[in-house]
Amino acid sequence: MGMIRDSYGRLTNYLRISITDRCNFRCLYCMPPEGVPLLPREEILSYEEIIQVVKTAIGLGITRFKITGGEPLVRSGIIDFLKTLVQTPGVQWVSLTTNGLLLQKYASQLIDSGINSINVSLNSLKADTFARLSGGVDGLNDVRAGIDALLNCGYKNIKINTVVVNGYNDDEIPDLARLTITQPIALRFIEYMSCGNWQEKSSGWTISARELISQIGRLGRLSPASAGQLGQGPARYYQLQGAKGVIGFITAVSQPFCVTCNRLRLTADGQLKSCLLSTDTVDLKPIISSNPQLADAFIRAAMLKPGVHHNEELTTMSRIGG
Ligand code: SAM
Ligand code: SF4
Repeated sequence: MGMIRDSYGRLTNYLRISITDRCNFRCLYCMPPEGVPLLPREEILSYEEIIQVVKTAIGLGITRFKITGGEPLVRSGIIDFLKTLVQTPGVQWVSLTTNGLLLQKYASQLIDSGINSINVSLNSLKADTFARLSGGVDGLNDVRAGIDALLNCGYKNIKINTVVVNGYNDDEIPDLARLTITQPIALRFIEYMSCGNWQEKSSGWTISARELISQIGRLGRLSPASAGQLGQGPARYYQLQGAKGVIGFITAVSQPFCVTCNRLRLTADGQLKSCLLSTDTVDLKPIISSNPQLADAFIRAAMLKPGVHHNEELTTMSRIGG
């Protein structure tokens, strides 16, 4: 098996795959209220084409995969796709990121598919704030029921993602953090990243992890989590004394983690992106059936990875998968 090191010597072993640009939410921080122009369906990679790309990636030492969107659970056939992905020789880790609206329906099938981790977005515990952040979707009860369904099945690898948006959910940090006391979950606070010029009003939306840590510290002793509780991603984890779960911080804004960046991104229409915030992409569609050409494209995309991210492209996360 090969191995890709980028031009800064970083190992590339992780691929985030957006399987659809469609979404049943319009999150304030992700897309404009009217939504974004959708890709024509024929431009979206089929599941077979994605598996083809995955097989090439495995040959290059990329063995960890995240399935994202848009909202991945709105694409039909997702469960069978996940099963195929999990069973593809060489795949070591598969996780899914979902907004959770359809999670209750899919919880047991997702667990049965054998994926290693399920990340659920939950930005608020208040119905009105939840709806303001999700672009008007009254989905709090459904998302919580989805998370409970996973917990009731005894599922252990649940991550909850909270994008903190100053002026919206910043008053709920302690309440959200408290969920980790009784539940075996990893709750991750994500710093809001400005990603589109439609977000004129967004200055001041980001709250740094440092500020959040000091707020949460008032709940009790917060210590760095032990090694066994650390994930492989960019989150730094802490634990409240006596808690069943852990609290993570993803600090793309206040402390970028580019020096350890190990990932590439595949958009729903087959663009391999070198960096979340870069316009440098390699189009896989014309070469999708050629393993050698795909392999070459992966190496080119890795070499395009910048040392540190620049806000070159203002775009919507739903196109790229976050
Ligand atoms: N629809 C799914 C969801 O929301 O979980 C998956 C796709 S979403 C684009 C992937 C991740 O990107 C989510 O955790 C979401 O909260 C995060 N995200 C989207 N826009 C963001 C922003 N402006 N700043 C920080 N995180 C963002
Ligand atoms: Fe949809 Fe996820 Fe973007 Fe929200 S963050 S609009 S749920 S893709």
